[in-house]
Amino acid sequence: MRGMEDLPAFVELRAYGPLNDFLPGPLRGRPLRRRLYGTPAVKDVIEAAGIPHPEVQLVCVNGEPVGFGQRLQPSDRVAVYPPFRTVELGPVLLAGPPPLPPDEATFVLDGHLGRLAAYLRLSGFDTLYPRDAADDELAGLAGDGRILLTRDLGLLKRSAVVRGAFVRSDRPSEQLIETFRRFDLAGAVRPFARCLTCNRLLEPADRESARELVPPRVFREQAEFRRCPACGRLFWRGSHVARMARLLQRAVEAANGGAGG
Ligand SMILES: [Zn+2]
Repeated sequence: MRGMEDLPAFVELRAYGPLNDFLPGPLRGRPLRRRLYGTPAVKDVIEAAGIPHPEVQLVCVNGEPVGFGQRLQPSDRVAVYPPFRTVELGPVLLAGPPPLPPDEATFVLDGHLGRLAAYLRLSGFDTLYPRDAADDELAGLAGDGRILLTRDLGLLKRSAVVRGAFVRSDRPSEQLIETFRRFDLAGAVRPFARCLTCNRLLEPADRESARELVPPRVFREQAEFRRCPACGRLFWRGSHVARMARLLQRAVEAANGGAGG
């Protein structure tokens, strides 16, 4: 004889918007039944379904916002929402941390995202890209206030990671647009602020000192030069702004003409 306590227990899980990217195709856009073993934290059930916690902003259980530690009971209905831009969040309990002001956003990128790292620096954002870093180190930097951008779901699911995003596209220019949208960065772009190689903020350089170091035409046309205090490289506005403009133009063209979704 089987008692009631032996019957399998389930919860219903519904993912909204781009969180469906993490579910197998046939399961997207509809409620999932997930087997419940014991009374796990809602975060564990969400991640077991494939959705990394940094992608989640709000979790509701039976219609009520809850924290990630909320224990689930049989037949609970779980709704999981991605980060959203709200004018007024009100007193809603967010499962994830509140969005950062765009001008306070700093990043750490995994070893496969070198081009995106350069583009973010070109845009002025403080971006670490520790090549060959172990996952522990990347997760530690992400727990230290940096936003982790990665294409490694296992890394993104680490509990040390507070803020982060899975980079969907494998094309760097699209990755940049994706990142701008997700963290609302477009208004905080500061070209000509940061060294592309070292990530250091540039310092004003004496114009005369640039005369021998840059092409004559550049020297004639540019009134202002800046120098990286770490590697000594000279930058001028044209070098950053022109690259930025080409990059954004390519990205827009790709978005208009592309068949992606
Ligand atoms: Zn430098």
